[in-house]
Amino acid sequence: MSRIHGQGGQLEVGVRSVPELFIRAQDGSPRRSSGPRRRLVVVSNRLAPVERGKSSTGGLAVAVQTALQKSGGIWFGWSGQVVSHAVEAPHIAPSGALTYVTLDLSRQDYEEYYNGFANRVLWPLFHFRAGLVEFRRQDLAGYLRVNRAFATHLAPLLRQGDLVWAHDYHLIPLGCELRRLGMEQPIGFFLHTPFPPTELLRILPNHRDMIRALCDYDVIGFQTVHDLKSFRDYLMRELGAQDLGGRRLRVFDRTIRAEAFPIGIDVDIVSNLAIAAAESRQTRRLRESLRARALMIGVDRLDYSKGLLARFEAFEQLIEHFPERRGQVTFMQIAPPSRSEVPEYLEIRRSLEAAAGHINGRFAEFDWTPIRYLNKSFNHRTLAGFFRESRIGVVTPLRDGMNLVAKEFVASQNPADPGVLVLSCFAGAASELGEALIVNPFDRMEITEAMERGLSMSLEERRERWQAMMATLRRNDITAWRENFVGALSAAVR
Ligand code: UDP
Repeated sequence: MSRIHGQGGQLEVGVRSVPELFIRAQDGSPRRSSGPRRRLVVVSNRLAPVERGKSSTGGLAVAVQTALQKSGGIWFGWSGQVVSHAVEAPHIAPSGALTYVTLDLSRQDYEEYYNGFANRVLWPLFHFRAGLVEFRRQDLAGYLRVNRAFATHLAPLLRQGDLVWAHDYHLIPLGCELRRLGMEQPIGFFLHTPFPPTELLRILPNHRDMIRALCDYDVIGFQTVHDLKSFRDYLMRELGAQDLGGRRLRVFDRTIRAEAFPIGIDVDIVSNLAIAAAESRQTRRLRESLRARALMIGVDRLDYSKGLLARFEAFEQLIEHFPERRGQVTFMQIAPPSRSEVPEYLEIRRSLEAAAGHINGRFAEFDWTPIRYLNKSFNHRTLAGFFRESRIGVVTPLRDGMNLVAKEFVASQNPADPGVLVLSCFAGAASELGEALIVNPFDRMEITEAMERGLSMSLEERRERWQAMMATLRRNDITAWRENFVGALSAAVR
């Protein structure tokens, strides 16, 4: 077997939240019961590297890990490896009550399914960037082929009574493929990205087939009620679906349940990481390097959906229009590269390098660099320490399913002196975190003003806003997300 492209385990953040999963034995037991245990089979494009003893990172990863540890089960997905030969069998790696089952992808599959249809059609379309959609029929064929291959290799491993939970836009047809193979178990799907309105979705040449396939799932979960509304609107308008009430819809002679399940974080884990990291070597080095300047921080995969260029420009306007801020504030943007083989990602990388260079060239002093721009990833502990050190968290995506960084920033704060979150109204998190400074990221001056407001906000107001956001985070935490989804799936009657 010759591997020509190894993607697994490296730090490039390729697949949003998923890649950083590590085995954790000490996760707390759930607070709400979801009935008798059934084996859970989770399917996602990528599995995170399984490394004992490493702390866990990534909300989805932790959630999936906890769910699987509770019920025992299988985590199935792409190994992260691209190989030169045809893929015949999955790798099966038992680990206690869990079994990790991974498939390699051929170069053609990787190009067509992953780089092509998933990341040049579905990703931009689901993030409202119709102009970036590059549809090619062979990519669609590759996408369908890989979903079929996943189903073919997964089906023999399934038992009656299993609950199957597929994740994200890579796997829309997976449920349909499993049904084709006669699988009758409850199968659910959770979309981590936004779901586009009907008129946008109609851009997808195969939109009817895709949504028809999606309706083969028993439970379909979305991040926000807006996404849910868009989905329901499509079903009603385009397919004449019937609303049965109680979140159920009748379509294609099937009854499906569609619901919003906003993903949360494990608040205690994140805040404990932040407390532990407050005096770590890295946090101390950061603090010393700041020399008492206020820190503004952004942490995002390098993705055009994250609104990084507008954010840089908003920061430039801050130091341009509020000269008293010069030398007093440092903006640190952490942006690990992702999907580097997709041309649009190279383009955004070049633009950001140019913008950071321009701003620093224009305003830097011999003892102050306005923007620190880092193209690398950090582990959760380090990030939590950096968040706690920051006066402002800047989370301004042009469109985002949820944005876990927003929630992690809040949970990392020091209750006695919390920082301020500047949050895009187009991040799913804005539906829950109304006490952040909510901005429209298409109005750069609004971001600038929010930055300035955050820098001058009184301690009392910062505390009030932070406490309200923490209460929400605790209520809608990762356990609630997992248990609500698995509960809905368990209740699915077939
Ligand atoms: N992340 C990380 N290290 C980094 C950058 C990001 O561990 O250097 C984590 C971050 O803490 C969060 C996840 O990656 O848990 C990103 O999730 P989010 O929902 O914010 O965005 P996505 O990448 O899924 O679009």
